[in-house]
Amino acid sequence: MNEVLAHFLNNIHSKNPGEPEFLQAVAEVATSITTFIQSEPRYKNTKILERMVEPERVVIFRVPWLDDKGEIQVNRGFRVQMNSAIGPYKGGLRFHPSVNLSVLKFLAFEQIFKNSLTGLPMGAGKGGSDFNPKGKSDNEVMKFCQSFMTELYRHVGEDTDIPAGDIGVGNREIGFLFGQYKRIVGSFNGVLTGKGNEWGGSQIRPEATGYGLIYFVDEILKTKNDSIKGKNVTISGSGNVAQFAAEKCIENGAKVLTMSDSHGFIYDPAGIDKEKLEYIKQLKNKTHGPIKEYAAKFQCAYFEGERPWKIKCDIALPNATQNELDAKDAALLVEQGCICVAEGANMPCTPDAVAVFLKAKIFYAPGKAANAGGVAVSGLEMSQNSQRYSWTRTEVDQKLKSIMREIHQRCLQYGKEPDGYINYERGANISGFVKVADAMLAQGVV
Ligand code: NDP
Repeated sequence: MNEVLAHFLNNIHSKNPGEPEFLQAVAEVATSITTFIQSEPRYKNTKILERMVEPERVVIFRVPWLDDKGEIQVNRGFRVQMNSAIGPYKGGLRFHPSVNLSVLKFLAFEQIFKNSLTGLPMGAGKGGSDFNPKGKSDNEVMKFCQSFMTELYRHVGEDTDIPAGDIGVGNREIGFLFGQYKRIVGSFNGVLTGKGNEWGGSQIRPEATGYGLIYFVDEILKTKNDSIKGKNVTISGSGNVAQFAAEKCIENGAKVLTMSDSHGFIYDPAGIDKEKLEYIKQLKNKTHGPIKEYAAKFQCAYFEGERPWKIKCDIALPNATQNELDAKDAALLVEQGCICVAEGANMPCTPDAVAVFLKAKIFYAPGKAANAGGVAVSGLEMSQNSQRYSWTRTEVDQKLKSIMREIHQRCLQYGKEPDGYINYERGANISGFVKVADAMLAQGVV
């Protein structure tokens, strides 16, 4: 490791003890862009990266609420306002027991580069709570959301910070959060994205991350005059991103072999078709059952406590959560002929796994580029809200496609290696960095 990088990382480690996910995300970016920064005095001398790793602001707050038994529950709420150089803070809210400051700082840091890559004027933020919506009644989720927003409202706004959904925060939660915000401030505005179509939401927002991921994979494969048609695809997760990634794969003629949840994965060698996917959507979105019920219904294999990466595939799409694919999984994927790994989730591949992909020179698309479709359509939702207008499904889908194409182009600009291999990790990091860094330079030391 070069000396400058080692010094930078040492400093970050000592300033952020007990934040492994945040340190991992910073190390990943710093490792891939330090040489570039060293070659550009305007970034090196102004300590842009040192400034970027420091959130502009972090808010941590108490979220007390009454459960259905009348007992008091207390959760912790967070909003990390990471960087506002190119627009208001923008990024999702995650409700999951594993949420802590480290997880949200890593997600907010990733969001800087992702939002920049979309080409839209969005800064970076992330927030959430250690609240677990699983097993809670609608009434309890509403009570929690109302209490959460009763503090959060003073820190967000349509021109300052616009949260959206993430793990554990879907349509229902966004509805409750929006209702409480509107009630407190007395204004109907675009403070949240991911709203229902009837009340200010954008067409294609639920589909955007999953669809965008497959549009990006298509761009990748086009560089080899190839396409996703006829490819065998393994997917992890069965939530929002996984469902719509699977839907687009099926629509484009690929065979989806696996899906998973936090308990295990199903392997359907016949392929998950449209009807079977509809069953998964009902199972996960309505009855909230475990994925293993799919295996019982469609008579296929279920692997308790395992992840799908041992199944032979052409394309692997980790779409569940961070660090769900390690070096051992990566080596097996490469050995079994996988040609492309594209991240629907944020940081699902460990650094060692990424190293395996880059060494083998298979396509590896980092989440900050490949899953940027979600936040991109959130940006389009903001534009529609500002105009008091809504675009059709076809219009939004076309815009999403062209944004994913442009993100791919931006990755090529800095990611193409002399032998023709495209290092999407470096391409995405440098391209995302340059736009934000230039804006920070223009705005002075703030
Ligand atoms: P959902 O809550 O809709 O789904 C999450 C899925 O991942 C579920 O299948 C869940 O299983 C599984 N999962 C969650 N935690 C774990 C875990 N610790 N181990 C194994 N499986 C787990 O979330 P999304 O689909 O929205 O998000 C998935 C990923 O995509 C996240 O990394 C998120 O940050 C990222 N992302 C999401 C975007 C969006 O627009 N929604 C945008 C960009 C990135 P179970 O059903 O058992 O809970």
